[in-house]
Order: sequence, then structure tokens, then C-alpha cells
Amino acid sequence: MNITLDNISKAYRNVKALDGVTCRFQGGEIFGLLGPNGAGKTTLIRSMLDILRPDSGSIAFDGQPISGAVKRRIGYLPEERGLYRKQKIHEILEYLAMLKGLTFKEARKRTKDYLVRFEMLDQAKRKVEELSKGNQQKIQIIGALLHEPELLIFDEPFSGLDPVNMRLLKDFIINLKNEGRAIILSTHQMNQVEELCGHVIMVNRGRVVLDGRLDEVKRSFSDSAVW
Ligand code: ADP
Repeated sequence: MNITLDNISKAYRNVKALDGVTCRFQGGEIFGLLGPNGAGKTTLIRSMLDILRPDSGSIAFDGQPISGAVKRRIGYLPEERGLYRKQKIHEILEYLAMLKGLTFKEARKRTKDYLVRFEMLDQAKRKVEELSKGNQQKIQIIGALLHEPELLIFDEPFSGLDPVNMRLLKDFIINLKNEGRAIILSTHQMNQVEELCGHVIMVNRGRVVLDGRLDEVKRSFSDSAVW
């Protein structure tokens, strides 16, 4: 999937959260979305997801505006974590899959497949509240990707994961890239960006201040303490 943002602006009262953002994401690539707190990353992501409407500018997915069909091709892991605590893991995942258009039968199969891939099948019948924080996070990650979206947006996906699960998720993300999916990774963990991202887009005060291949960006900043 190709996603094009053209001159997006969004203001909250007197704050320009996005101020003329133009950028492009495409399949087969992991994009690091970087920038300090308050830079506009969440506003950018929410605009892409149609959770909020920019004041001006346009966003196109393979040349088309956002629609229900487009939304079903997107997966999103928000930074705020939260699942219904009393519900069973497999029920939550089946429900999320059906929200994205899968039949109950498909949703059940997909849920099982993904629980196996994330080494969580033995937890399927437990309630969310009985799981460790890290395992709850894994369930939320599975929920973002079990409908096999073409665009995946992960906001701080590694926070709270132990090294084994971090490796599992990284390998999974690399696999998604190799399958041709577009991945946007918003994180402050620069070591993860270096390891995973081929391309970085940095925003600050609602503007794109850096947009390029990681190796080029690193070369031009080779004397900077940032890297
Ligand atoms: P980031 O995700 O990079 O931390 P945000 O997109 O959340 O940045 O925020 C960008 C700017 O917009 C910040 O100055 C923030 O305070 C402001 N902002 C974000 N959401 C709202 C809102 N709902 N109401 C008012 N201001 C907001």
C-alpha cells in the first residue's frame, strides 16, 4: 500500500499540531516516525486513521481517500494499552478480527494461528486481568495484526516487553516488511529504529524536519550526538 500525505495541517485552538506535513509511506519498508513529545506524531497517526479530520490537506491510500474498506487494510497499536479486563483472550481476538470483516470461522482460525505464532496458545482461555503486563501487550499486538493489514502503525510497541518477546516481535515486524507491508514505527528507542527502519521521518512542532533513508540520515548526522 502507498500512503501519501499532502500538506496536512491541524490546529487545536492556538496550537498548530500539524503544520503542512507532506510525506509518503510505501509497502516493503519500515518507517521510523520520530520526534519529541508534542511534536505531532499522534495527531499525524490519528489523521491517517480517520480518528480526527485535518483542517486542510489530503491523505490518499493507493490514490483513494479513506473509507471503510481502506480502514480494514490498516492495523494500529496505540500507545495507550487497554483491553476489556474481564474478557477471555480468544474472545477478544475473535471479536477484533470480526470487526475487521472476517467471518466467525475465519476469526477463530486466525486467532488460533496467531496465538501459536506469539507463543500464547496456552493463555487463550484466560481473562485479560490474569495475564502479565507483557502478555497483555502481546495480545494487543496480535489484535492489531491478525486481520493481516497492509499498513501497520505501531506506537511504542516494545515498551514493557522482555528481551525474548522483543526479539519475537522484531522478527515478526521484519517478516511483515518482507511480505511487502508498510510499517510505521513510532518510538523513542533509537536502537530499535537503527535496527529495524530503512527510512526515518522526523517531526518537530508539527513540521517534517527530516525525511530520508536511515543510512543517508545517519551519514549527514555522523557528528551529531543523536546517533
Ligand atoms: P506527539 O504524539 O508527538 O507527542 P501530539 O500529536 O500528541 O504529539 O501533540 C501535538 C501538539 O498538539 C501538542 O502541542 C499537544 O499538546 C497538542 N494536542 C494534541 N492533542 C490535543 C487536543 N486534543 N487538544 C488540544 N491540544 C492537543
